[in-house]
Amino acid sequence: AKRNGRNGFELFRPEMNQRNEQRLRLRAELRKALDHDALELAYQPQLAIASDRVVGFEALARWNHPELGPISPAEFIPVAEESGLILPLGRWVIRAACRQMAQWQAQGLAGFRVAVNVSARQLRDAQLPEFIDATLVAHRLAPERLELEITESLLLDNAETHIALLRRLRARGIRLSIDDFGTGFSSMAYLPRLPLDQLKIDGSFVRAIPGDGEAITTAIIAMAHHLRLEVVAEGVEDAVQFEYLRRAGCDVMQGYLLSRPLAPEQATAFLHRHVAG
Ligand code: C2E
Ligand code: CA
Ligand code: CA
Ligand code: CA
Repeated sequence: AKRNGRNGFELFRPEMNQRNEQRLRLRAELRKALDHDALELAYQPQLAIASDRVVGFEALARWNHPELGPISPAEFIPVAEESGLILPLGRWVIRAACRQMAQWQAQGLAGFRVAVNVSARQLRDAQLPEFIDATLVAHRLAPERLELEITESLLLDNAETHIALLRRLRARGIRLSIDDFGTGFSSMAYLPRLPLDQLKIDGSFVRAIPGDGEAITTAIIAMAHHLRLEVVAEGVEDAVQFEYLRRAGCDVMQGYLLSRPLAPEQATAFLHRHVAG
């Protein structure tokens, strides 16, 4: 932008290009990473509070780029979503999580579930239920072992189509969870109509315990139980938060207090300590 009459435009342009270039580079690198099977999953344990048992893991995508270093999913998931790469990435995540569960099952480590995060775009993929079926069958896994975490905000648009697909998934026995609950509460009216198993209280509310987070978490727990849904608190970092949630009747906890997300080998060791022991 050399000879441009509009001043602001000139100043604005180079920055825009830089950001665009960065996104395009990341997109190209992500495509390569998917082709080369270079992504990984980290597994964060979830504990049933009343029984003190490990009931599951959340699988979280990890990308350690050979030159750029570790790139956060908060950075690469949006890039995947805007480029369409979220479809192959989402399928890779489901396949990798099932492969891991099958490995654990072969070692006698079963009786818990693995949750994967699902993007809006994936719910518009009419082939998703068949893909999941085939993956579960190939790994000899019961559908109840797999849980899909869907963010609340994505249910707002196109709700009827989404609900239809969710019904098809749930009819197969796959568990459904609403992620980041409480951060987009305009969809609350849909809640009784959704085929759900679980609500996850967003970590921002848990972080506000003690304090403003108390009223909100207590209200979410009461509402979830009225709807016969299990409640998970995420982002639990300290004993004060844990104790508050326990007394409030929260079912499951997840967070650094119990464990950080673990590499597969670490997660296996964690299971040997907590499940098989
Ligand atoms: P999320 O689904 O809400 O996942 C929880 C995030 O909180 C994770 O960040 C996790 O590492 C972090 N976390 C867990 N315990 C604690 C804690 O005690 N304190 C704090 N401060 N943080 C905690 P992560 O792994 O960086 O993932 C960020 C987001 O990226 C996820 O948020 C999810 O929305 C998205 N994401 C990650 N993996 C996938 C994936 O495979 N597919 C899709 N579609 N999205 C993914
Ligand atoms: Ca999640
Ligand atoms: Ca969440
Ligand atoms: Ca989140």
